[in-house]
This record gives sequence, C-alpha cells and structure tokens, in this order.
Amino acid sequence: MPVPPRPRIPLPDLPRPRAWMVLLGAMAAALPLATALPDGASHAVAAEPAVPVAPPSAPADRGPPPAPQPAADIRSQVVWRKSIAHGTPNDGWLEQGVVLPAEGPGFYTYDPLTQTPPNLPGRRTGTATLVREVIDLGGWWAAHHPAGPRLGVGDLSETSGGAFDLHVSHRNGTDVDIRLPRRDGVEGPASPLSYDRALTQELVDWWVARGALLVLYGPHLSLSGPAGEVEVWPNHDDHLHIRIPDPDGTGN
Ligand SMILES: [Zn+2]
Repeated sequence: MPVPPRPRIPLPDLPRPRAWMVLLGAMAAALPLATALPDGASHAVAAEPAVPVAPPSAPADRGPPPAPQPAADIRSQVVWRKSIAHGTPNDGWLEQGVVLPAEGPGFYTYDPLTQTPPNLPGRRTGTATLVREVIDLGGWWAAHHPAGPRLGVGDLSETSGGAFDLHVSHRNGTDVDIRLPRRDGVEGPASPLSYDRALTQELVDWWVARGALLVLYGPHLSLSGPAGEVEVWPNHDDHLHIRIPDPDGTGN
C-alpha cells in the first residue's frame, strides 16, 4: 500500500545559541543523555535499561496477533479538538491538546520513565494533527506487518505542553518519539544490536513521505533519508524523534 504523500514543508530555522545550552552542560552529570537538537530544540531520553537481546535466530513467541481493529474505530475513541501549537517545539505550549489512545491498530504506547506500556495520558497529548498521524501510521503498519511487532510510541507532549521532564523539546504537541522495531519481534526497548534495520527504515520513509520536518536517529544506527530532514543525533540509538508541521495551529 503506497504511503499517501503530503506536501513538503521547509525546515525550520537552524539553531541559535541559548542560555540553556550552557546549563545543559552542567546538567549533564545528572541527566547524561540530554542533547541539543539541530534546530535548536533539545531532547533527552531515558537510558535504555539493560535488556537481554534475543538472537535473531530465536524469535520470541508472542502468541497470536491481536484481532484487527479498523483505524476508524480507534479514531472514534479520540476526543478531537482544534489544537493550537503555540511557539516552538522547545519554547512553546499546547492549547486544546488531543490525547493519543493508549494503544490502537499497529501501535502501543510506553512510558519512557519506566520503559513499560502504556504511557500516561498526560505524556501522550499532541496536536490533533500529530495524533491523527500516529493513528494513521499505526493503521498502515498493521496492514503491512499484521504479525507485528507493533510500534512503540513514547512521549508526545504533556497535557498543556510546556516544560517536560525528559525533554527540552516536545513542548507544543508536534514531537513524538517512536521505538525502533526489533528483529526478534519483541515489543520492548531496542538498541543498535537488536533493532530491525529494514523495518526502522520503513518507519523513517513513512514519515518522510508524510512531510515530517525532522526525523532523528542515533549514530550507531544505519538509516538514511533526505539531508536536513533525516539526521543523525546523539542519544537516539533506541528511538526515532519525529517532528511534524502544525498546519492547524499558529505555532511551529
Ligand atoms: Zn523526542
């Protein structure tokens, strides 16, 4: 099934130095994974816990796949509102955010603080556009990979956006983190040793086709995409960071 294209949108301005960047260095000891994003946003992620990695030759028995659930059904469970992404991803807030369901066709959510599903509603709130995109992604993924693994969706933004513990970006409802699919099919934390390169590249390509502003991946992963849009960034070896435009709002 081809990915429906979206109009390409110019990248945001490139970084400008900020006072917090200096502070970030001082915070490094306490929060060693904090990093600045190339557009001036910053983002920190929870360290990946030590998880035994099953060899590719021994895929886990995850049982039968969940019964198919049409994407239309999950969309009907969402309280849709006209969201407004104010300001920028690293210095903004979210008005009338929409909560992504805890799970749906092709995806589940997880709390990056505990690395376990589901994520809290207050951590999976985004613009209506972002929530719609994630649900669409899940539906597309489920159709292409009905036996799984489903995609693990981490943080979007907090209920009203703004400062968000692990992140310096993720403030206005236009950012989302997604785990790397694993070769062994386990729906859990991934690493450069356990991720499925081909599946992860599919994920990157989907977001590029949909007009994502930014897709970040870690330096120990082997992925590709248009320069300036798909970029290597430190501390993203266990997930992708995706930023989308916000055509419905005033921000971004
Ligand atoms: Zn992120």
